[in-house]
Amino acid sequence: KRSSDRHLVEEHLQELARLADTAGAEVVGSLTQQLDRPHPGTYLGKGKIEELKQLAASREATLVLFDDELSPAQGRNIEQALNVRVMDRAEVILDIFATRARTNEAKMQVELAQLEYLLPRLTRMWTHLEKFRGGIGMRGPGETQLETDRRLINHRIKILKERLADVLRSREVQRASRRREFRAALVGYTNAGKSSILRGLSGAADVFVEDRLFATLDPLTRETTLGEGYRVLVTDTVGFIRKLPHDLVASFRATLEETREADLLLHVIDASHPSWEEQREVVEEVLAEIGAQERPVLYVFNKIDALDPESVEALRARAAGEGIDAVFVSALQADGLLALRAALRARAEDAFPLVALTLP
Ligand code: GDP
Repeated sequence: KRSSDRHLVEEHLQELARLADTAGAEVVGSLTQQLDRPHPGTYLGKGKIEELKQLAASREATLVLFDDELSPAQGRNIEQALNVRVMDRAEVILDIFATRARTNEAKMQVELAQLEYLLPRLTRMWTHLEKFRGGIGMRGPGETQLETDRRLINHRIKILKERLADVLRSREVQRASRRREFRAALVGYTNAGKSSILRGLSGAADVFVEDRLFATLDPLTRETTLGEGYRVLVTDTVGFIRKLPHDLVASFRATLEETREADLLLHVIDASHPSWEEQREVVEEVLAEIGAQERPVLYVFNKIDALDPESVEALRARAAGEGIDAVFVSALQADGLLALRAALRARAEDAFPLVALTLP
């Protein structure tokens, strides 16, 4: 890790540990390194690689995770040096998405992202296979085999892209038929409380809430009634996280389209999290990446039940100072979402004024 900010590094590693846990791995040790810039060949310096090797051996680790993205060559080199399977953060996230995808669409999107990630790393993946097959060592496949694989994968990528384009088209048709409703999309860092808010707003008990990263993968739309005459469609989207693999963002474009077309983005922030500001920036970067940065935003500072009243006041003052629209809520408390409901209703009224009908 390059950052000189110790506590940020610690927090990023804790988050990686949570990702590992979500993916089903148990963390048995960790180490960090301070370098001006990563070693081009092995990411870590020589001494650190040796230290990591000792650590992995002493704890009988079968997997080593890196918080930063490794180039295909770095991954291969480290794996050779350690003789243990190596994954970077992007790969862990892809793995989690793969096990969590439920709908056909989400499955196709994840598969596409995985194949795009795999393509430049084929040689290394082959090395794993060789090893599992009989420990023949580090021999790779012949060039012909690699070429065949590349061709097959490229073909599959093409098919997936075509199918996803079809899904996108039918979604557009659906959306066109919902034109008259006010549509809000929940966005926010993973675990900020999006699902809880959707559940609180809609009263639906079947929204999945879990204190894990990425409980939500498939977009879920619920209808909320806000007093007479107003219905609001609220969509929960994929949770955002630092270093969301680029391929994943690209392949989830169809899902995130929902976000880009929303009348209002509800940017949910876990106000009780020490790094909420960094998390907010990450979400904003992803929004920019999918072209949704121009949408109107209402900031929803959630989990205020976990803060003392002075901190909540400080947040309010800060939001006012920044000139952003914000509400302060708790998805877990009775009536904790009243401010959000009121704000939503006001926005819906602005968008679709109730017209008084005069009969002749
Ligand atoms: P998502 O990943 O953004 O959909 O987040 P979830 O809705 O799944 O919530 C993540 C975790 O935060 C769960 O353990 C929730 O119970 C918890 N949580 C959500 N809202 C609140 C809140 O207002 N206060 C507190 N204390 N915890 C909350």
